[in-house]
Amino acid sequence: MKFPHLLLASALAGVASTSHAAVSPVLVIHGGAGVIRHDMTPVRETAIRLAMTRALQRGHAELVAGKSAVDAVTAAIVVLEDDSNFNAGTGAVFTHDGKNELDAAIMDGNTLNAGSVAGVEHVKNPIVLARAVMEKTPYVMLSGMGAEAFAREQGIELVDPSYFRTEQRWQQLQKALKEDAAKRPHADEETAKHFGTVGAVALDAQGHLAAGTSTGGMNDKRWGRIGDSPVIGAGTYANSGCAVSGTGWGEFYLRTVAAYEICMKVTQMRVPLKRATADVINQEIPSLGGDGGAIALDAQGQISIPFNTDGMYRGWIGADGVPHVAIYGGEDDGTAELPEPVPADSTE
Ligand code: ASP
Repeated sequence: MKFPHLLLASALAGVASTSHAAVSPVLVIHGGAGVIRHDMTPVRETAIRLAMTRALQRGHAELVAGKSAVDAVTAAIVVLEDDSNFNAGTGAVFTHDGKNELDAAIMDGNTLNAGSVAGVEHVKNPIVLARAVMEKTPYVMLSGMGAEAFAREQGIELVDPSYFRTEQRWQQLQKALKEDAAKRPHADEETAKHFGTVGAVALDAQGHLAAGTSTGGMNDKRWGRIGDSPVIGAGTYANSGCAVSGTGWGEFYLRTVAAYEICMKVTQMRVPLKRATADVINQEIPSLGGDGGAIALDAQGQISIPFNTDGMYRGWIGADGVPHVAIYGGEDDGTAELPEPVPADSTE
């Protein structure tokens, strides 16, 4: 297998933004860590694998065309938002009040610019709006009606809320409401509540990183609850040496500032990416009672995809353009075999 290694040694983690070294682009995506094996049907599984493959190919096409990591992240996430198998865009989970309230964020690791939106109800692709917040406003985070007024001004596509509705998500809410009414704890595993959030991290040919995340949040959420996904540093973060998109029980990602914590370990403490992600995702978050996973990428193209659930929809695509997709824990996603990146001759 061809590894997306650096072509020049000068683009080291943490200093890639000042380098113009040519780098083999990489894109990593997730479709949520709420995989419940016994709920999966072969038809659904095939549809999910296909959608993940399409998202990887769409994002990769941006990278090979010389576009930015931000472009690749946006393109991949739009594909997943437009697929109703995921809890983002159409197919989002319902709130306690029977609405879909969507959150998304994007961050450009090269400039540390970021944009996010929370609690939007009519925006077809929240990641596109988050990007517009980043690029066209002096703000980082917009919420609710104000965010939608900005979307309208920008000509970003708005839809009737019925666009987001799927029968499966509606039934998921009905079940939770019955349990709420009977004051019974939810029978579903906690992971079922946050099934299918999507995210992407990318490294472009300039050696720049970006991260993005989009979600409907958690089934049966109340009172305008906002999770970690649109909070820069919690569910989404990128700097010059590290990019992370998280997925899981958002309150724990907020409390641990999970994405930032991983990136600080990598870029400030020089902890290898796999260890840094394992510390946060496999130790810190479960030790507090949370669950979930993350995708992470460093400036050398190293990939880490840890999760502490039954599985995580995940995939990556490197220099050879071959998409790798996996769902279950124990299923080979191809990242374990990746050798350490070998910097090419720096005198080149
Ligand atoms: N983290 C998201 C939230 O809590 C849900 C998820 O990732 O599945 O809103």
